[in-house]
Amino acid sequence: LIQLYAPLNFLGVLYREIRQAFTDIERMFRLLGTEREIRDAPDAWPLPSGPLDVRFEHVSFAYDPRRQVLEDLSLEIPAGQTLAVVGHSGGGKSTLARLLFRFYDVSAGRILIGGHDLRTLRQDSLRRAIGIVPQDTVLFNDSIFYNIRYGRPDASEEEVFAAARAAQLHDFISALPDGYHTTVGERGLKLSGGEKQRVAIARTLLKNPAILIFDEATSALDSRTEQAIAAQLEAAAVGRTALIIAHRLSTVMNADRIVVLEAGRIVEHGTHAGLLARDGQYAAMWRLQQQEQD
Ligand code: ADP
Ligand code: MG
Repeated sequence: LIQLYAPLNFLGVLYREIRQAFTDIERMFRLLGTEREIRDAPDAWPLPSGPLDVRFEHVSFAYDPRRQVLEDLSLEIPAGQTLAVVGHSGGGKSTLARLLFRFYDVSAGRILIGGHDLRTLRQDSLRRAIGIVPQDTVLFNDSIFYNIRYGRPDASEEEVFAAARAAQLHDFISALPDGYHTTVGERGLKLSGGEKQRVAIARTLLKNPAILIFDEATSALDSRTEQAIAAQLEAAAVGRTALIIAHRLSTVMNADRIVVLEAGRIVEHGTHAGLLARDGQYAAMWRLQQQEQD
């Protein structure tokens, strides 16, 4: 029995890890040969194109019914604006991103995109509209070119290179013996956390989605690379609806609005200047990070 159980257990762990990190759930389920859990409603609609606002209305969520992760949370990202979410680890920031991508359904309340409840939308259209740079990127065992072009399979070679340049990856790739043909992933070249993050950034820049989610997208980068990419990410967010989850507050200063999330609740919100003036938790986090920098 143990012999039988061990690989199943391993698959369970693998499944959970991939589920949190994957950018494309369709391919994941094909890989694992399982049915996906969340199905489209029979009368589901494709998400209309154009500027899209995002609203969380009284959202509660728990992975395990005995432990609430988000409680009665409401927030709004007007179309074309950037909302930053900051707060200590475990507060529920990544959960917001996963719910918006509909990896899970809310247990109470609702999430609206362009005024449509996520549960009434076709998931393929949702996933086309949203580009996510997750905290941990899983790469396909395929060429680095394939891994970037996955963001938009009909992109030209030049467009793939441009995305790689914007993600500060082009020179690194060009210096590899096999260049863009280098196989990456578990069975290929093992990229560092920061390099994988940059692949995910390139992929998402190439995808050019209406809604952007960065979940600590630059957390594994050294601060020089982060600064070099920050301008590209900010440019990518212009005119799009963006949810930026960040650890380093210097990367969210320019967001239209910032919320501080603690234990599943919004404890403060405002602009960078407004939150500093308020002299609460955000201001304390800011001072701490300024000290760390010096
Ligand atoms: P953050 O991104 O702010 O660090 P998360 O949204 O990842 O926080 O997690 C919020 C809470 O939910 C944490 O307590 C975490 O342990 C829990 N959690 C996250 N993912 C899962 C999961 N797949 N199953 C059960 N609990 C989870
Ligand atoms: Mg997180």
